Amino acid sequence: MVERFMALALEEAQKAYRLGEVPIGAVIVQNGIVVGRGHNLRETTKDPTAHAEMIAIRQAAQTLGGWRLVNCDMYVTIEPCPMCAGGIYQSRIVNLYIGSMDPKGGAVGSLYNIPRDERLNHLVNVEYGILQEPCSQIMKDFFKKLRIEINYGEMSELAKGHAWKACKPERARGFESRSLRHLKLSIKFVALNGEVAVPCNLQSAVAGLKLS
Ligand SMILES: [Zn+2]
Repeated sequence: MVERFMALALEEAQKAYRLGEVPIGAVIVQNGIVVGRGHNLRETTKDPTAHAEMIAIRQAAQTLGGWRLVNCDMYVTIEPCPMCAGGIYQSRIVNLYIGSMDPKGGAVGSLYNIPRDERLNHLVNVEYGILQEPCSQIMKDFFKKLRIEINYGEMSELAKGHAWKACKPERARGFESRSLRHLKLSIKFVALNGEVAVPCNLQSAVAGLKLS
């Protein structure tokens, strides 16, 4: 049963993956019925709070008609960050099921343990390691894909596929710092007639990458 709902959260993560978003998914279940689901949409919506858990919480609150998610459990593929751990506490989730841990940013046992902090007035039960392997693997696949270095030879092929467009070097640098650097994407910008080719957007950049 627990695995079945985590598999739905994993489906959400796959939706994020296909959009070029960090692949994290979440579902919220009340009495065996899914009342909220979400996947990371931070790049698509340009919203730093558009994490899978926050989207699922908002949807569940809409479905149930109130901020208090009575008798609800959350299934999330990766250990929540401090913001989402706060949202889970605020919405009074009863049981939290986590796929894989996030040692660098997790706030449910790794860096902090917000849902289990007894100074707060609501404690969340937490279970770890539900479908851990696939939840962790989709993240590894995603970041591996982003780390592939594009070389000059691939450049012209990608341009044909409309994954790339030419722009001024100043804009290319801006693009790199805004959208790519945090994803550890290593790209050699290529001079084309005094201009520089960059991915049109993150989605096409990811779609255009070739696995080595
Ligand atoms: Zn989060």
